[in-house]
Amino acid sequence: MEKIAFIGLGHMGGPMAGNLAAKGFDVTVYDLSTPAMTALAASGAQLATSARAAIDGASILITMLPAARHVEDLYLELLPALGAGTLAIDCSTIDAATSIRLADNARARGIAMLDAPVSGGTAGAAAGSLTFMVGGNAGNLARAQPVLAAMGHNIFHAGAHGAGQSAKICNNMLLGILMAATAETLALGVKNGLDPAVLSHIMSKSSGRNWALELYNPWPGIMPNSPASHDYNGGFMGSLMLKDLGLARDSAHAAHADTPLGALAHALFEKHIAAGHGGQDFSSIQQLYR
Ligand code: NAD
Repeated sequence: MEKIAFIGLGHMGGPMAGNLAAKGFDVTVYDLSTPAMTALAASGAQLATSARAAIDGASILITMLPAARHVEDLYLELLPALGAGTLAIDCSTIDAATSIRLADNARARGIAMLDAPVSGGTAGAAAGSLTFMVGGNAGNLARAQPVLAAMGHNIFHAGAHGAGQSAKICNNMLLGILMAATAETLALGVKNGLDPAVLSHIMSKSSGRNWALELYNPWPGIMPNSPASHDYNGGFMGSLMLKDLGLARDSAHAAHADTPLGALAHALFEKHIAAGHGGQDFSSIQQLYR
């Protein structure tokens, strides 16, 4: 059986590693944060005292870290210590160029790498129903398949190294645009005297229907389980959405692609987060319009 090291036990990585342990995988975990480690204590995973200790004897390394600088720093530290033949799977959302550079660096040391960012949020991480968008070699993906399947329902091979990140960034640019557009539209309806619940119901059965409106409504009180109905707590932090819209902007620049709606969504989230909302769920963009 593969011996898995899992590093980065935050909102996403914690439940993902917990699912691996619950499904009988041999998992050793590590996070810089003590509370994040403590949360995994009863999961069946082994707790390591450092990242280096976590990878001792590991055949698969999984990382779930905030941003590219964390990923790059950690891999620069760990690559020389990983055994040849190890498969490293980075599930963080970072820029494709960094993923490609790390994969090249790893390959030179006999280590295989996949970029495998996820969609599905904290609920999907807890339920083990994430979507993985994978970049890298198909043979390495086949090796990763049973491990990813323990954490997600949909596993897509997007293409070569970096393609998983490119797909994720496209998805999240669209999500940011849809959420801002949905919030703006609900605010317009309310200012015209409509009940936001009635308007949401009408649009969800009409051509304006979309994921943000139907499954993650940003107006408080419309969906009992949405972050909007819980003071925008939990879910996907606005600061992470701003990070992803920044990644989309940078990738558009590098590819000479025109993304004016992505740029507008970035500007709206930037303004919202500068007003102190970075720690709230990204649907709190609704407050920009109230
Ligand atoms: P998080 O901030 O909750 O967790 C990141 C964890 O990494 C923290 O616990 C931190 O202590 C740990 N960490 C940082 N550097 C480390 C190091 N060198 N060694 C060990 N641990 C280290 O972030 P998250 O919400 O879990 O998101 C992780 C990634 O997943 C991000 O790239 C994010 O964009 C992406 N993502 C998040 C969501 C979501 O809904 N939260 C959804 C999809 C994708």
